[in-house]
Amino acid sequence: MTSANLLHALGIAPSSLDPAPPWTPCGSAYIERLTERHPCIRCGATATVAGVIEDAGFGRRWVDRCTACLAATTTRSPGPRPPVADVLAVVRAAAGEIGMTVTVMCGDDCGAA
Ligand SMILES: [Zn+2]
Repeated sequence: MTSANLLHALGIAPSSLDPAPPWTPCGSAYIERLTERHPCIRCGATATVAGVIEDAGFGRRWVDRCTACLAATTTRSPGPRPPVADVLAVVRAAAGEIGMTVTVMCGDDCGAA
């Protein structure tokens, strides 16, 4: 979902968002925006991601989201996905590197066997 689509789905008018500065190659405005600790547009928690939409009527506007809302509102690639077992193998290896184990709780057909 693009940010413009996200705003539409959440019923947020671009005019209600803070104006964003012009794009720069360094992206320092994004870091500055995050340090100002703005609320997530979806849930109100402190935003951890600052994005910008280009609205035809209102120009560049900040779209601040927390990590959970970013994950919940980001469209996944339509391409092929790796098998669940492969993903879990990576997670188990990462957990093992820090001395932890992973327990998967799912039905027989989840592909995590
Ligand atoms: Zn949020």
